[in-house]
Amino acid sequence: MTRLADTAIDKLRGNVDGQVVLPDDDAYDAARAIWNAMIDKRPAAIVRCASDSDVVKTVNFARDNDVLIAVRGGGHNIAGNALCDGGIVADLSQMNAAKIDVPAKRATVEGGARLADFDAAAQAHGLATPLGINSTTGVAGLTLGGGFGWLSRKYGMTVDNLESADVVTATGKVLHASETENPDLFWALRGGGGNFGAVTRFGFRLHEVGPNLLSGLIFYPIAEAKTVLQQYRDFVAKAPDELVVWTVLRKAPPLPFLPTEVHGTEVLALAFLYVGEAEKGRSLVEPLRHFGKPAGEFIGVQPYTAWQQAFDPLLTPGARNYWKSHNFTKLDDGLFDKVTEYIGKLPSVQCEIFFGAIGCATTKPAPDAMAYAHRDARYVMNVHGRWDDPADDQRCIRWARDFFEASAPYASGSVYVNFLTADEGDRVGAAYGGNYERLAQVKRKYDPENLFRVNQNIRPG
Ligand SMILES: Cc1cc2nc3c(=O)[nH]c(=O)nc-3n(C[C@H](O)[C@H](O)[C@H](O)COP(=O)(O)OP(=O)(O)OC[C@H]3O[C@@H](n4cnc5c(N)ncnc54)[C@H](O)[C@@H]3O)c2cc1C
Repeated sequence: MTRLADTAIDKLRGNVDGQVVLPDDDAYDAARAIWNAMIDKRPAAIVRCASDSDVVKTVNFARDNDVLIAVRGGGHNIAGNALCDGGIVADLSQMNAAKIDVPAKRATVEGGARLADFDAAAQAHGLATPLGINSTTGVAGLTLGGGFGWLSRKYGMTVDNLESADVVTATGKVLHASETENPDLFWALRGGGGNFGAVTRFGFRLHEVGPNLLSGLIFYPIAEAKTVLQQYRDFVAKAPDELVVWTVLRKAPPLPFLPTEVHGTEVLALAFLYVGEAEKGRSLVEPLRHFGKPAGEFIGVQPYTAWQQAFDPLLTPGARNYWKSHNFTKLDDGLFDKVTEYIGKLPSVQCEIFFGAIGCATTKPAPDAMAYAHRDARYVMNVHGRWDDPADDQRCIRWARDFFEASAPYASGSVYVNFLTADEGDRVGAAYGGNYERLAQVKRKYDPENLFRVNQNIRPG
């Protein structure tokens, strides 16, 4: 269905405060553009919701007219679940306020806010909660899948810091979910994705962070990758919760602190943040500089918000992207051989493989404490295929899939739901793990007809 009945749409248009964008409107192509340019979906209508009441009306419209509905937060989902073909989109991106209660160290964040909106508001008071590493990502999708980033070893997954959510459910009711109100729904929202309704507002616990922190990047030539990775693994195992170090393998971007002869060559980068006093951090990170002979480095104290945006230039919207991901409980030498082999055959200058180190606080809750189940994961690996020319689609996708297969024997078998691509429906069980059946029970209670199904879907029946 690509066109909704004019009368129904006219009625909705007259009813909501926000704009309703239709296929014939000039704004349509911009309104249906999302981060991953591989996604080319054509909704019949996009409602740019301006209020909770707009979200309720859009959900009611979809249900009453038996129309597919997608909910859009930041539009970063690699699988393209912010959009649907032929249905209606509840686009929350205009609802992006983040309010901070400083004495209570609590944030109230609207369902369309991006990480940058939240970080900026909280950091104005020296506060933060764990979020992801690219500031244009949506708070909503990231949180509902679990959420991890530079603060996670110290303060846990994003969901570990969620205290409440206001949700427009399939009946059009707005429910408040917390440990004490609708606790089953609150349990499911913390890792169960967008399956249970449209979240208009999140309540987060905040921590004192920065605002200035030691961070940096240390680059090694790829020839040293295996020995650097071995030392990295041993270093991370002993590092305090405050120190997080991720590894990225790719072709070196033309960064000003790298010698020009290094630009475009295969490198391993250690990216780190120390969530504490900078001088202590300097001595703690010193060994990272002696894993081999660095090709270049940048280490300095900078605002946490700047570090949160440091990788944005490599992750701009509009490129073609295809991801494959595994969780790891440990890193084996055999995996390092595979990584270096595949970095030797990168199909584009933008492709990369990264290992995001979590652990410490992320491992503390029980696997069934909330929907996010993967408390044994120490590393989240993403094979990030990224390129510009559609003619490169098959080559780049092939590379990502081949490395994914080659690295599978070393992985835990589970996967982060927010890194699943559109063609990975068979991995939904691995994403929700042992919590799937309980999630299905909650789904039966709050969305028995599966109105919210444009996501990594939990089936009610
Ligand atoms: C460049 C990049 C970097 C990333 N880095 C990290 C990272 O460091 N850590 C991490 O944990 N993840 C990371 N991610 C993954 C990210 O968490 C997911 O892509 C997530 O789905 C993005 O959320 P969004 O709101 O932007 O997405 P959208 O595409 O808008 O939505 C994603 C899903 O959430 C649902 N949804 C969105 N908003 C709402 C809402 N208000 N209520 C209910 N359901 C909603 C949608 O229906 C959809 O199913 C990254 C993604 C990208 C593209």
